[in-house]
Amino acid sequence: MKYPSSVTIYGAEYQIQVEKDLVLEGVACDGLCYIKERKILIDSSIKDPAVFKEILIHEMGHALMDRLGFNLLGIPPELEELLVQGIAVMVTESFKLSFNNS
Ligand SMILES: [Zn+2]
Repeated sequence: MKYPSSVTIYGAEYQIQVEKDLVLEGVACDGLCYIKERKILIDSSIKDPAVFKEILIHEMGHALMDRLGFNLLGIPPELEELLVQGIAVMVTESFKLSFNNS
């Protein structure tokens, strides 16, 4: 699948990479956002472009929360998950999305 090598989120560039068998704390996951490294990883098993975009938007949401300083507010991780997933679903349900470089 064609996807951008990076995205800019509130002025900061985040690299995007597809990797095999993503795991966080022993649990398989579809996407990860490493804030400090400014890196977003998507699992290579994700082949459906719509699902790929939803996962990417979700991970971009985590980066955006950090860029906006939400981490300084002490928001529980569960709430952040609900927020970023809600945004990802809302956007992908309502818009046909394409990447700038495709
Ligand atoms: Zn998440």
